[in-house]
Amino acid sequence: MNFDKPITIALSKGRIFEQTMPLLAHAGIEPQDDPETSRKLILETNHGNVKLLVIRATDVPTYVQWGAADMGVAGKDVLLEHGGEGLYEPLDLNIARCRLMVAGAEGASLDGDRLRIATKYVNSARRHFAARGQQVEIIKLYGSMELAPLVGLSDLIVDLVESGNTLKANGLIPMEHIADISSRLVVNKASWKMKHSAVMALIGELRDAVSGRTDGA
Ligand code: ATP
Ligand code: MG
Repeated sequence: MNFDKPITIALSKGRIFEQTMPLLAHAGIEPQDDPETSRKLILETNHGNVKLLVIRATDVPTYVQWGAADMGVAGKDVLLEHGGEGLYEPLDLNIARCRLMVAGAEGASLDGDRLRIATKYVNSARRHFAARGQQVEIIKLYGSMELAPLVGLSDLIVDLVESGNTLKANGLIPMEHIADISSRLVVNKASWKMKHSAVMALIGELRDAVSGRTDGA
């Protein structure tokens, strides 16, 4: 594949990086460094015109929105919090799949006034309980949400659930589904116009990779 304009792709290390690499490989893009062992934040690839930015998962929409990256890979959970301003979301990459859920201790109730909800997903949690007609108190955390109900910080949590094992290990149970989550390709709106052919070509390759097509048709 030929990129007529430089393209920068923002993504986080860990599961998103690992699961995006096979999709990029389908487009013929291979990074020159491994972010798990390298301290570099800008990774060169085998294409002189394609670079990867390795940043925090929650920062990906911000870099793309401001055009510091042309494209990015971000979880729908992160995009729901960010709001998606300045971004197009042309492709569901169908990776890093999980569910955003309400969880609590055995016997906890979803009903009630002024429930305290601990979460990193402040906007999604508020929206979810507003749709249920409930005013809740949101307590913003940055991780290990499972702890909050155990020590009386909150009544419930809103968090990502994959197998449910982390909840279970902490005596919590999933109580209500909020959203199915997967990672999405996001594109800066100006890059979409100014780098149209490169962006479209890459989206096409990634779409084929996601749908398992290898014929290039
Ligand atoms: P940070 O390191 O900035 O705190 P993080 O801990 O959310 O971010 P990851 O755990 O790598 O970083 O999660 C990145 C993305 O992967 C999340 O935004 C979500 O979309 C997805 N994800 C998180 N946890 C799971 C999970 N258990 N199963 C599947 N996907 C997940
Ligand atoms: Mg994590």
